Amino acid sequence: MSAHALVRYLCRAGTKADHTMSTATKLKIHNFSAGPCILPQEVLHKAAESIVEYDGTGLSIIEMSHRSKPFEAVMAKAQQLVKELLGAPDNYQVVFLGGGASLGFHLVPMNYMRTGGKAAYANTGEWASRAVKESAIVGETVVVASSEDKNFNYIPKGFEIPGDADYFHFTSNNTIFGTQYKQFPKSLPTGQAGPVPLICDMSSDIFSRPVNVSDFALIYGGAQKNMGPAGATVYLMDPDKLGKTGRQLSPILDLKNHASKDSMYNTPPVYAVYVSMLTMEWMKKIGGVKEIEKRNAAKSKLLYDAVDSLPLFKGTTAVEDRSVMNPTFIMTDAALEPAFDAMWKEAGVSGIRGHRSVGGYRASMYNALPLESVQVLVDVMNEFSKKNG
Ligand SMILES: *Cc1c(COP(=O)(O)O)cnc(C)c1O
Repeated sequence: MSAHALVRYLCRAGTKADHTMSTATKLKIHNFSAGPCILPQEVLHKAAESIVEYDGTGLSIIEMSHRSKPFEAVMAKAQQLVKELLGAPDNYQVVFLGGGASLGFHLVPMNYMRTGGKAAYANTGEWASRAVKESAIVGETVVVASSEDKNFNYIPKGFEIPGDADYFHFTSNNTIFGTQYKQFPKSLPTGQAGPVPLICDMSSDIFSRPVNVSDFALIYGGAQKNMGPAGATVYLMDPDKLGKTGRQLSPILDLKNHASKDSMYNTPPVYAVYVSMLTMEWMKKIGGVKEIEKRNAAKSKLLYDAVDSLPLFKGTTAVEDRSVMNPTFIMTDAALEPAFDAMWKEAGVSGIRGHRSVGGYRASMYNALPLESVQVLVDVMNEFSKKNG
């Protein structure tokens, strides 16, 4: 048996054995990483196989042309699944680009702010602030709502979006601070030019709940939070809103160009697109975004109930704005942190230390995290409270 065949054989054998076990017994680590994040076990196994050989082609998924028939089918399927899962209108277009959502912060004003026009932003956290900064480099940028006054621990409400803005940009879920819009801002007022187009960075909660896509000119997000591995950023666009700025763009920065070339203007991040496609197939199989929303609600209720009922723990954000994806909390007695840390590590929990700008804890609970993992963490919190309460 050649080395190649051996690897393939072992890989397949491992996959079969694993499929007979339940997710709960298989997980040695309960992965609450904020990103790159947990992916479904079955996706990881398929992804591993595809590195050795993709679908009987004799080639690895990462050593075949992005213009080959098999990869073109992967790209088409990935684009279609984004639209299908989110219920996007038929004419909307999907591209996958490199550069992360951080490149998106630049592409947004370049592609949607008219030369001499202006853009409106909500500043609700670290990523939102970065988006504002990038926009200010390109043109007039008005921050119409901000929660910076309280270290971003709430979502501003009741603000007005100026009718003459070219678009309104917001961050649906604030990954670091643990807040999330429960209702999206309305694209009002309806001025003479029509509603202000909404643009949303959904990096950390895309596919976590239903959205009305037709309200948005653009939804974008890095794959590595809720959709796949790092390396691909998805852009879901209303093509009618593109190419209206009067600005001459380099083709690599031009979303209209990428859309018209069907995400193949240059080599797309093939492996990240493939694994994202697998993850979206998994999301569809388990019942789509509605089912995921239910599961996420159960997970976050379990955790927040523990945070609220145990005196040793305290949430860090306004209760009505709590993120379903990234619950943040602190210990009321910081001196107990080392003992608590030792206990959850012992239980196989991973990745819940908070971001350095907030401190405390952040338990990121992306789509692929099973309820069982949250139960393990909550059991640790209960047991720790009993011992130290
Ligand atoms: C992680 C994150 C980003 C940054 O994504 P990169 O892919 O690292 O550029 C932007 N926005 C939000 C909401 C994020 O969570």
